[in-house]
Amino acid sequence: MDRFVSGRPEHATALVTGASKGIGAAIARALAEDGWVVGVNYRSDEAGAKATVEAIEQAGGRAVALHGDVSANGGGQALLKELAGEAGPVLALVNNAGVARDGLAIQLEDDDWDAVIATNLSAAFRLTRDALRGMIKARYGRVVNIASVVGPRANAGQSNYAAAKAGLIGMTKTIAHEVARRGVTVNAVAPGFIATEMLRQTAARMRISFDQFLEGAAREIPVGRIGQPDDIANAVSFFCSEAASFVSGQVLYVAGGPKG
Ligand code: NAP
Repeated sequence: MDRFVSGRPEHATALVTGASKGIGAAIARALAEDGWVVGVNYRSDEAGAKATVEAIEQAGGRAVALHGDVSANGGGQALLKELAGEAGPVLALVNNAGVARDGLAIQLEDDDWDAVIATNLSAAFRLTRDALRGMIKARYGRVVNIASVVGPRANAGQSNYAAAKAGLIGMTKTIAHEVARRGVTVNAVAPGFIATEMLRQTAARMRISFDQFLEGAAREIPVGRIGQPDDIANAVSFFCSEAASFVSGQVLYVAGGPKG
């Protein structure tokens, strides 16, 4: 039987999807600092994932790079199995991997809709379902879904992304209720504008420089600055901590003001 250290079973691991860069990489570093052994998942950016693992190891933590497309059939299950085999049972899951394929609804191709729903929503559901089995058995678990301020509000050009993120919020609340008595919490963080590659691509689509985009965005944020990946990582660290054991089914907006 596992010895319990402040509630968290020893050798528990945390899987962070899409941790080769941006918000996911910051979450992986923060959870490693909190003592989790972290699975750093990536889809294509192997160098980024290796850099995340190296940064964690240099800071005295433990991490494993895990290649895999979460939107592929069985992709999530393979990741959970690989991490459990290499380091220990996955008792924290952060569904962070995400893509945007923007366009007005009238012009959106089926493929743009399907890719965004598959990565941002369906993959998070399947991973959560598959990870819950081990968490329930251990009577301990943390699931954190990375949604967006765009989920519950209108944002022209993002019907696919908004649908996926709103779905993620509904899923978070429902599954949180279902597993509340099993020692598992399920929460969501909804970021506002965070300076990452995703926003760099948004700026490129708008044909403006990244700096111009960030300056314009910062003017609309009440605190007067753009968010950084660590702002989101701090919120995820809280949800995965013992301090949050009585917090479930919540959405924390991290957006520099009321819902961005
Ligand atoms: P990012 O810099 O574009 O990074 C996205 C990450 O997701 C990369 O590590 C990428 O892996 C991974 N990924 C994408 N598709 C994947 C797949 N099918 N399987 C596995 N990994 C996959 O984006 P970010 O800004 O850090 O966004 C992280 C999350 O925050 C996303 O869910 C996003 O929707 C959400 N968010 C971001 C903002 C923002 O302003 N940046 C605001 C609200 C919400 P590879 O690079 O290896 O392909």
